[in-house]
Amino acid sequence: MQNCPYCSKHGDYYFKIGSRVYYRCLQCDLIFRDEIKSYDEVVSTLSDNYFSRYSADQMEGRRNKLFHHILNSVENKTQRGRLLDVGTGCGFFLLAAQKRGWNVDGIEPSAESVEVARKLSGVNVFHGTLQDYQGKDQFDAVTLVNVLEYSALPWKEIEQARQLLRTGGQIYIRFVNGFLHSRLYRLAKKFGLSNRITKFLVFHYYSFTPSFIKTLLADQAFTDVTIHNSPLTEGDPNNLFSNLLVATYVKRFAYAIAQSIENITNRQKHLGTSLEVIASKADHPKKI
Ligand SMILES: [Zn+2]
Repeated sequence: MQNCPYCSKHGDYYFKIGSRVYYRCLQCDLIFRDEIKSYDEVVSTLSDNYFSRYSADQMEGRRNKLFHHILNSVENKTQRGRLLDVGTGCGFFLLAAQKRGWNVDGIEPSAESVEVARKLSGVNVFHGTLQDYQGKDQFDAVTLVNVLEYSALPWKEIEQARQLLRTGGQIYIRFVNGFLHSRLYRLAKKFGLSNRITKFLVFHYYSFTPSFIKTLLADQAFTDVTIHNSPLTEGDPNNLFSNLLVATYVKRFAYAIAQSIENITNRQKHLGTSLEVIASKADHPKKI
């Protein structure tokens, strides 16, 4: 048993992967690691390693379709105005948004990525984290694309994003589906197949289930919370499959199945490997 770092209630043992032990909170449904580095240590790791690990993937354009999908989702909810992208990497999402008429800003902890992003977009991308960023009530949209689970304090990031949004502004978050990945891992372990499946699963300090994300956003006074399966990126950046064609077909098949289940269950069950949530900043105060 370990207390939940978000709500302080009881967390039960959930699974162990290598030396990492994960617990699941019985109250808020957060899945969390036994040991979580300090905020400064996590930022330092991201600053040092992010560019070398992920820049090649970003530069090959595998995320272009996803970026336009994200912008379509945001533009369905609000007019184009000011957009802040948190963890903007090398700036390709900023560039896509800029080309569609958004006035963009970005935040990025890796100095090498900031340099590339500034050259690419011409935007003076802020070098640092959301916690360091100054400002209030100025953005129509804040986007966090696959960054929240890397944070040591994701609820602080959401709180800060809320402060930066105007009332009615939209927050968009793309995250690994903690519900699916943890269930698959536990199932595979039961049948002695965990070694075969581990490379396809993603666990950081936290695994976010749809119910936890809904609780987190409601606590921070977001309304109109909508969760969907997120379209997948193209290619096979982590070399998980025998070749690119196999990767493409397996990913498309998995996404089609997840979409069918989402539709059949009237958007209640989300089995996509990644999920996306979009929500509006309410005009009433937050709960916590
Ligand atoms: Zn909790």
